[in-house]
Amino acid sequence: MTTLVWFTDDLRVHDNQALYLASQRSEPLVCLYCVDEDWFKPNQYGLKRIGDQRWQFLNETLHALNVSLKKYGQRLCILLGSPVAVIGNIIEKYNITSIYCNSQAGYYENRNWQTLKDKYVSVSFNRVESSTLFAGHQLTHIDEFPKTFSKFRHHVDSIDFTIDPLINISHRIELILPPAISIDNSELPTVIDNNPNTSFVGGEKVALEHLTAYFLSAAPSTYFDTRNELEGWLLSTKLSPWLANGCLSPRKIVSSLLEYEENHGENKSTRWIYFELLWREYFHWYAYHYGKDMFAFRGIVNKKLLTSFYPQRFKQWCHGKTPYPIVNACMNQLNSTGYLSNRGRQIVSSCLVNELQIDWRCGAAFFEQQLVDYDVASNWGNWQYVAGVGCDPRGGRHFNLDKQTQSYDPEGTFIKKWGGEDNAGKLDYIDAADWPI
Ligand code: FAD
Repeated sequence: MTTLVWFTDDLRVHDNQALYLASQRSEPLVCLYCVDEDWFKPNQYGLKRIGDQRWQFLNETLHALNVSLKKYGQRLCILLGSPVAVIGNIIEKYNITSIYCNSQAGYYENRNWQTLKDKYVSVSFNRVESSTLFAGHQLTHIDEFPKTFSKFRHHVDSIDFTIDPLINISHRIELILPPAISIDNSELPTVIDNNPNTSFVGGEKVALEHLTAYFLSAAPSTYFDTRNELEGWLLSTKLSPWLANGCLSPRKIVSSLLEYEENHGENKSTRWIYFELLWREYFHWYAYHYGKDMFAFRGIVNKKLLTSFYPQRFKQWCHGKTPYPIVNACMNQLNSTGYLSNRGRQIVSSCLVNELQIDWRCGAAFFEQQLVDYDVASNWGNWQYVAGVGCDPRGGRHFNLDKQTQSYDPEGTFIKKWGGEDNAGKLDYIDAADWPI
């Protein structure tokens, strides 16, 4: 008999409830991560699900997790293949009797879990909710899923996430893991050379160091005024890549935030960090609730948009060659570093949907490939919001690019640094005034 911990987006040892629950069993333990080959093949948008920057961050994170597990006499087994096939094979070959896994928001991830559960009825399948602030049972008072963020916020205002007993235990009890068993054909992927352009390094150790450094600085007290800047390490928290991969849990971040407020006082800025984490929380439950509709052209509101697919425009947008320098600079930054500020994401997504009139899902798929902090719920949820097919009560956003440039890059420093004017091109359409030629 063997226990399996299936790591997904909870790539840490500290504060990991799935691992903690598995540690309570006496059988040998397999710690597994699946690398799906489909991530690296072109999807329906002709893009990979994981591009180079994202893969590097994930790769570093997996290596770091293996180092953490070694301290407990364990190791991380990494297998290549579709999760259903890989996990099914492991269940049969190693007589797995219990599986522990973190609950995920994505439709396809949930479908895999259900398929395995239906197929292996004698195995005990256990999921915990450690990617969110709240556990599902704390939200049962919400009858109908709130269609807007403000309604959701109103519902969760009074919930104290620290009272969930499992959260408290996994935080405090010292972890002792059962012995590892060795798995055939599992190996850590080769370490990729560091990308000199990125400030993000994967893994829970670096994540915890960054969390400590951020809350040791005075930045949280000015977050509200600085968060919209296009660039600057401490001007927003920069926690997203570690959160997305589960090197940190949102509960750990909020614990640090509350400690900061206790020592330095609470103000609009510190509360706004919590507010932003609630947005993440909302999108997580939203993705869980709406399932496949996260990826539907008409979104969750079934609205038909007047967009089309212009391959040339899409290419220009991806490579920072649109007629709009601010958009190009943002896209160049994204392609070079794997990160873009929230303001930058709003600017380029609005441009894709409004100026370029391209199907919003192409933009979301490109972000999925490029962002080191890609997370299915936050990405597709925000794209739906901007495109007007999601949870925006105003029905979509159109940012005025000139105004955005004046407000956030008045001296043109950002555009210059990221070469926003270098390759600015024209759009492919023919103006009505030039017709017929
Ligand atoms: P901070 O400003 O410091 O915020 C703190 C945390 O709050 C973030 O780490 C994040 O977890 C959460 N947060 C902040 N804003 C949002 C938001 N609008 N929606 C959800 N959570 C939020 N965020 C991702 O983590 N992954 C994505 O794939 C992603 N795709 C996006 C796509 C578009 C089109 C847009 C407009 C936004 C997207 N965001 C995404 C949200 C946001 O841009 C990033 O979370 C933020 O820029 C990350 O930087 P930070 O950690 O410094 O954020």
